[in-house]
Amino acid sequence: MSRSAAEASPSPQIADRLGRPLGSLRLSVTDRCNMRCGYCMPNEDYVWLPRTSILSLEELDRLAGIFAGLGASKVRLTGGEPLLRQGLDRLVAMLRARPELRDLTLTTNGLLLAERAEALRSAGLDRVTVSLDTLRPERLQAFARTSRHGDILAGIDAARRAGFKLVKLNTVVIRGFNDDELEDLLEFARERELEVRFIEYMDVGGATRWRRDEVVSQREILERLTARYGPIVPLPENAGSNAPAERFRLSGGLVFGIIASTTAPFCRACDRSRVTADGTWFLCLYADSGVDLREPLRAGRSDEEIAELIVRTWAGRADRGAEERLALPQRGVLYRLERLRADPRREMHTRGG
Ligand code: SAM
Repeated sequence: MSRSAAEASPSPQIADRLGRPLGSLRLSVTDRCNMRCGYCMPNEDYVWLPRTSILSLEELDRLAGIFAGLGASKVRLTGGEPLLRQGLDRLVAMLRARPELRDLTLTTNGLLLAERAEALRSAGLDRVTVSLDTLRPERLQAFARTSRHGDILAGIDAARRAGFKLVKLNTVVIRGFNDDELEDLLEFARERELEVRFIEYMDVGGATRWRRDEVVSQREILERLTARYGPIVPLPENAGSNAPAERFRLSGGLVFGIIASTTAPFCRACDRSRVTADGTWFLCLYADSGVDLREPLRAGRSDEEIAELIVRTWAGRADRGAEERLALPQRGVLYRLERLRADPRREMHTRGG
């Protein structure tokens, strides 16, 4: 699809078998990470995607452009840790030049954000979400094997100074790790005008130590916060939205979100899909396999041919991975180590969160 053709006409909305549009794309730019969070990369060693299979910045931009032309007007850059990818600002600038992309965002662990925030903002990135699970450096050290808690906080401050619209924090809540910090994290967010999204601990690939009793549910989070802050009001925009987080307001006015993917999945409204750094397209975070888009990209197929493959595949999508997990009578880890090692694309850090 040529750029001028996409500019001339609004993007079509294509729908899957459950009527869900192709609305947003998570584009993973690397499978490498400089943290080892216990819910994502708890193991000692990993099988990485072969270097030669990693898409170039031009290939990533081209794919994103094809998706955008089919209605995926929101792109979130993720990983692994996206700030480890050389030339990320250049990719942002390329994507920004595509008028059909309305929302260009990044999820990062923040370790390298202080030195990159301004360049990313200047390149045209709209929004940033920083993962911050604890305010206690010693906890981060034990949980994610990094001593650089201060760098994350500096990254958050740099993002605010760089002028990003609302900076969000992602906090995965795990019983016995950080569930006693909900209020502290909210107060931290209040002081800095950030928005926290508490995420239920998910049994995704990579979470090889997941346990049901470590999940702190949306209900429990709300009960705990109500006991401290009084009545909590759900915000009306939740209804009919494709956004994963339900948003709430505390009586003092502070707004926060909860992503209840484990106990109250939102598959029926899920318009998201994911492309890994090697160009494998996953229609669901829980899907066992994906569609190879790298091969047609490198075999000289035209944008129209790749778009046709995407439309055909999306039309057959019926995935409801999180709802199916919820219906299981016994819920344990999604993959044992051998199955993860057999295909690194099953890892959360490869698929992008
Ligand atoms: N490295 C970046 C970061 O830390 O934000 C981007 C990749 S990370 C996989 C994206 C998001 O997935 C993070 O906010 C992380 O907290 C979330 N995540 C990873 N494993 C998870 C799990 N088992 N349950 C819930 N969220 C998870």
